[in-house]
Amino acid sequence: MSHFLDRLKFFKKTQSTFSDGHGIVTNEDRQWEDGYRNRWRFDKVVRSTHGVNCTGGCSWNIHVKNGLVAFEMQATDYPRTRPDMPNHEPRGCPRGASYSWYLYSPHRIKHPLIRERLVSLYRDERAQGKDPVEAWSAIQADSEKRKQYTAVRGLGGFVRTDWDEITEIIAAANIYTIKTHGPDRIAGFSPIPAMSMISYASGARYLSMIGGACLSFYDWYCDLPPASPQTWGEQTDVPEAADWYNSGYIIVAGANLPMTRTPDAHFFTEVRYKGTKVVAVAPDYAEYVKFADLWMPAKQGTDAALFMAMGHVALKEFYVDKQIPYFQEYARTYTDMPMLVMLEQHDKAYAAGRLLRASDLDDSLGQTNNPEWKTVVLDEKTGDLVVPNGSIGFRWGEKGKWNLLPKNAADKKKFKSRLSLVFDKDDLVDVLFPAFETGVDQGMQRKVPVKKIQVEGKEVLVATVFDLQLAQYGVDRGFGGECATGYDDVDTPYTPAWAEKITGVKQADIIRTGREFADNAAKTKGRSMVILGAGINHWYHCDMNYRSIMNMLHMCGCVGQSGGGWAHYVGQEKLRPQAGWAPIAFGLDWQRPPRHMNGTTFFYFHTDQWRYEKLDADSLLAKTASDKYKGHNLADYNVVSQRLGWLPSAPHFNRNPIQICKDAEAAGAKDEAAVGQYVVEELKKGSLAFASEDIDAPENHPRNLFVWRANLIGSSAKGHEYFLKHLLGAQNGVMQDVLPEAEGQEIKWHAQAPIAKLDLMVDINFRLNSTGAYSDIILPTATWYEKNDLNTTDMHPFIHPLTEAVDPGWESKSDWQIFKTIARRFSELAETHLP
Ligand code: SF4
Repeated sequence: MSHFLDRLKFFKKTQSTFSDGHGIVTNEDRQWEDGYRNRWRFDKVVRSTHGVNCTGGCSWNIHVKNGLVAFEMQATDYPRTRPDMPNHEPRGCPRGASYSWYLYSPHRIKHPLIRERLVSLYRDERAQGKDPVEAWSAIQADSEKRKQYTAVRGLGGFVRTDWDEITEIIAAANIYTIKTHGPDRIAGFSPIPAMSMISYASGARYLSMIGGACLSFYDWYCDLPPASPQTWGEQTDVPEAADWYNSGYIIVAGANLPMTRTPDAHFFTEVRYKGTKVVAVAPDYAEYVKFADLWMPAKQGTDAALFMAMGHVALKEFYVDKQIPYFQEYARTYTDMPMLVMLEQHDKAYAAGRLLRASDLDDSLGQTNNPEWKTVVLDEKTGDLVVPNGSIGFRWGEKGKWNLLPKNAADKKKFKSRLSLVFDKDDLVDVLFPAFETGVDQGMQRKVPVKKIQVEGKEVLVATVFDLQLAQYGVDRGFGGECATGYDDVDTPYTPAWAEKITGVKQADIIRTGREFADNAAKTKGRSMVILGAGINHWYHCDMNYRSIMNMLHMCGCVGQSGGGWAHYVGQEKLRPQAGWAPIAFGLDWQRPPRHMNGTTFFYFHTDQWRYEKLDADSLLAKTASDKYKGHNLADYNVVSQRLGWLPSAPHFNRNPIQICKDAEAAGAKDEAAVGQYVVEELKKGSLAFASEDIDAPENHPRNLFVWRANLIGSSAKGHEYFLKHLLGAQNGVMQDVLPEAEGQEIKWHAQAPIAKLDLMVDINFRLNSTGAYSDIILPTATWYEKNDLNTTDMHPFIHPLTEAVDPGWESKSDWQIFKTIARRFSELAETHLP
């Protein structure tokens, strides 16, 4: 019936009141309400998420109407982890709840875009009959032409083109680079794969298959806590966020949980209802501070001092004044505290050298397999030197001993390792410890109990890690010497009074928190936890901040215990999909190994930040360190590390690797081993060198850079202006002159720094951000709701497959489709150019 007739009917309706005038019947037209009803109507619901590096991995129901996303709602069907744990659901944050805005926003990249000056140059060359690779080559060969488009990066000037032309240009640039400079001059930057594993894999696979380099990201944007590999030998291993709920005592340092861990923050507030005490370490009244029982407002970047002082309290009260059986057992079994360290003579004192190894001792203590990788302890009962199971030497070459059971590897008998030599010492000697605090330049000299043993016919002093640690923390054990006179000793490093001077936190609060943290761990078998975040990681001293915390957790037996330990904001990647994913992501079904390059060295070198370096690397050398690399700058250390194989290197050598291979074959090499030998000989002769030794030479520049799933220039470009100047050749705000003192011993110095090293930067994005603005080409990609992918957030027990809710908008394609399209064109052109 027509709306007009409807309205006529309304005139006939009885208008009245009811319920004593509380209700009323009117003739009002209520069709306008359909607007609201339609707003919430939908045709289908599809599961997706958003991985904006939030580690949330929240499950969302995407409601689709007429092929468009109408709205998104939080899913509420998460699996329960344990019956006595709060639900994970509902999970989400305001950023995710408004994600559908991105799909239809004015910032959306709708079509393939290219810098107008570049495409004009290319079309001119093509119009002259040149094929795509020849056309690209002609532009690169003419410095004026090249400058025409590189100098205007960041200044707009994009025009629409189509997928055919744009993929042809990219493929031509890649092939030209491979032929002229080498495949390792092509690189790609894309952050944390776990957020969208398929999208990451698309670009990584393409790069791996053409010999390009996948740049690391985690170290570069500083989410990698270097303390973790330094201490534990692996990237990051942390409890899932729900485990906060199992804790009895929590210190939160630099992690603004309600703001940056929004979907998990409820575990933090809920555990407080169980009586868990919360201490917040934050220089400002951050949002998480309001949940705390105690606020410790440590000055920025001083967290290491705070936690060292709390560690001092824990060691003094729970290892020296009294012994806690749980702590003693934990320290013996799971830490290196009982292991023996050889001391080295330094003038009239000693310094800690390396760990004593089975290979140092007669008959390698019965170890024939990797004795140089097996550490040694003393058996408390017999006083014998023992090789315990579990050190790294057991990992390869033998079976069944890769565990930490306190068994003598030689006879498989149980033993009890000696933590301290205090009651079994041969001597008490002065040991030097490095100190980097102003005014303590000569280091600290502390008394340490030692044993004398024979190593290769010579007498060597050994001490346990535990005794060295107590000495370093300055804990008074009645040995005399330079240790702390008490908690209020303001001049001795690592006392609470010393920490108050540095952090601004009252020593009474430091003592109380250190004591309570350890006491709770002693009573609950390690259920004391430190939740820490970027607020203390993104600092120059981040490794010290973290290691001071780790030490405290080791002392208190917390790591590996439910409700205890080190809750960093990025966890261990899920291993379950790795076996299937890695071959796809890195093209291992085609060739191996893939080329990986650490982003930190890559960008430090190729943005020429090393030429402006003010940090004197010698100032980082401990007084007890050797002088071998004295005078080296940070760039030199990188060069040496690459040469020794400690760091990857891409670009690798100062010649095209394809040419090196051809030269090797011409010299008679018939297999891979012979090519390797040829390379070694060339390096020895000096006719071949590592690219990093002359990083500013044109033959060693990176030439093509792909950026996908990232905003490299806007958010990951540490040293933004140097990126603009040296890598891109764009207008920039570099105000500092290069520093002649940056001239190194290993790296070659050029008077003139290169500008615009990259021939081509390609950004793959769904919105126009700074990376797109500075790129030469922008390819429109699918958003989260427009693709099938896999999200395997590190911090939760679930893996999240997401499904395409709507078609990719406008001319966009998924990352997978984009790289597939480029690869197809590359293959076609390669038939002629890379036969
Ligand atoms: S925290 Fe959850 S809702 Fe927020 S962006 Fe991340 S996945 Fe989406």
